[in-house]
Amino acid sequence: MKNLRKAFGYGKYARKTEEPYAPPATQLSDDERNIIRLFKYMRPKGSPTEQAFVDTYLRPLGFTRDPFDNLVVTVGEDAPWLFSAHLDTVHDVEGIQSLHYGNDGILRLSKKAKRNGSNCLGADDTAGIWLIMEMVKAGVPGTYIIHHGEESGCIGSSDLAKGDPMWLSQFRFAMAFDRAYQTDVITHQMGRRTCSDAFAKSLSAALGGSYRPDDGGSYTDTNEYAGIIPECTNVSVGYRGQHGDGETQDVKFLIWLRDRLLTIDYSSLVIERDPTRAPWDDDDYLPFYGTRYGELSGADYAADVDFKELVLEYPDLIVDLLEGCGINKHDILDQVSLFYGYEKRVSACSGLIRRRR
Ligand SMILES: [Zn+2]
Repeated sequence: MKNLRKAFGYGKYARKTEEPYAPPATQLSDDERNIIRLFKYMRPKGSPTEQAFVDTYLRPLGFTRDPFDNLVVTVGEDAPWLFSAHLDTVHDVEGIQSLHYGNDGILRLSKKAKRNGSNCLGADDTAGIWLIMEMVKAGVPGTYIIHHGEESGCIGSSDLAKGDPMWLSQFRFAMAFDRAYQTDVITHQMGRRTCSDAFAKSLSAALGGSYRPDDGGSYTDTNEYAGIIPECTNVSVGYRGQHGDGETQDVKFLIWLRDRLLTIDYSSLVIERDPTRAPWDDDDYLPFYGTRYGELSGADYAADVDFKELVLEYPDLIVDLLEGCGINKHDILDQVSLFYGYEKRVSACSGLIRRRR
């Protein structure tokens, strides 16, 4: 998700470091230890900490930068599919943060980290990166891409879609690991279909658990490829409250998901959508805002769209944007209470929360 921090006056991140908190090592599995290690890095786009993370964890696995600053590695041959995550987090500061890992298997920021200025856990999208690292280490065939600058408007993926669509056209599906919750295989991003129901159903069945197709995606990097690659999806990886200091990661779920991803026969997934055909759904009435169908300029497009309708159409996206600006549900409840008083507040508030999920 694009964040509006800069527009709202946040300055360049300041460097902060602190002693990492380490829970007693004997209680942790190797997976838990590795996950906690990765999650300590606060990685605003282009920061030295981001580069240190790349040098320490990604280069040793064979990842190299493409011309658009994305990190790419291919495992095996004849595996025309793309797995993705993004490198950056929405931290205001860079460096190392301390974490709290409870007996419930939930990872969150420590109080000390919050005091020291950390504004999010960064599970979005360190969770996705860990999954990709595990798949590469296990030798699961495919091409893996960790995108540059997703949180600043999908910079690396949109540059790639514009700069080298031929390279992207070799892939049958693009699967992002960049979705909150534990249930979603995304079929629509920004209200537009990016993946067929048949693909989403076959992937949901292969993953197991509570996975099912969901059409409520906002957008992530794979949205940029929807005009080129047949099936473009985003999969829940078990974080919640992304972009805020209450962000959590269900570590046990993440490990479970890794185990599932290592066993799937990706060649058996159903490929059905034709990326060259638009619109892809009867209900896809908005012009596609990506690279392929971007012939309508942003100004022309915006002139025809009512702001309120846009808010109603994309509630998930609006919530992400508000959270990115530091506006949470308590701020909204305060305003609802101010404008409507207590009675209305209750019904308006339950409506708001229902809309979110
Ligand atoms: Zn993300």
